[in-house]
Amino acid sequence: MARRKLVYEGKAKILYEGPEPGTLVQYFKDDATAGNGEKKAVIDGKGVLNNRLSEFFMTGLAAIGVPTHFIKRLNMREQLIRAVEIIPLEVIVRNYAAGSMATRLGMEEGTQLPRPIIEFSYKDDSLGDPLVPEEYIIAFGWATQQDMDDIVALALRVNDFMSGVMHGVGIKLVDFKIEVGRVWDGDYQRLVVADEISPDSCRLWDLETGNKLDKDVFRRDLGNLTDAYTEVARRLGVMPTNTATMPKPTLIN
Ligand code: C5P
Repeated sequence: MARRKLVYEGKAKILYEGPEPGTLVQYFKDDATAGNGEKKAVIDGKGVLNNRLSEFFMTGLAAIGVPTHFIKRLNMREQLIRAVEIIPLEVIVRNYAAGSMATRLGMEEGTQLPRPIIEFSYKDDSLGDPLVPEEYIIAFGWATQQDMDDIVALALRVNDFMSGVMHGVGIKLVDFKIEVGRVWDGDYQRLVVADEISPDSCRLWDLETGNKLDKDVFRRDLGNLTDAYTEVARRLGVMPTNTATMPKPTLIN
């Protein structure tokens, strides 16, 4: 197999040049990080699960008319995606107080919010992805007012879809993060959901027990992360087998 050109390596994923112009191959690693890279581990099977789960959510979103970067899954750890211009924001939607919001406002985790609340962080690891007001985003030209209106509409549609799908399998969607990218059609741009949607970027609590089924299991040392993600995949009918026992494919780069 010909060597592939590495385009970008992040904490949990690698992007390679795709087979056609305007495409990329997104490879899901087993690496887990928390606290902006302060805590690190390799968790067997996490990449396989996130590849499948992200495919499942992105395909479902496309089916209800929400545009995403996803084209198709290629193998256990890779998917073909459209190359997009990433808007340098983490778009966070919260339905219940948890994590940094609970800490910042002294709220009890799990408190239902009066309505979904959207917040934005500036994507910069060296700054720890600081929370930024819309005023900064527009003034610094990271996105226009029109982009922000479109991003809010997109984020709320993703929230409704994800909340409904998760509720159907007995899971509460507490909060999640998406990234948004621009795709150009000549002079016109469209905004699409990019990056990944997986238990790495969502808070998912079992509706009955309140057990965490997301990356907080790793962040807070609550147990086995692969078991938690496998449970989410199993309930969604995405991947019934335990991926920890699956052999790892050889990465060619
Ligand atoms: O830590 P915080 O409470 O701000 O996280 C809100 C949501 O955004 C959580 O679901 C978390 O997993 C996700 N998130 C993320 N990547 C980050 C920061 C937060 O996926 N860099």
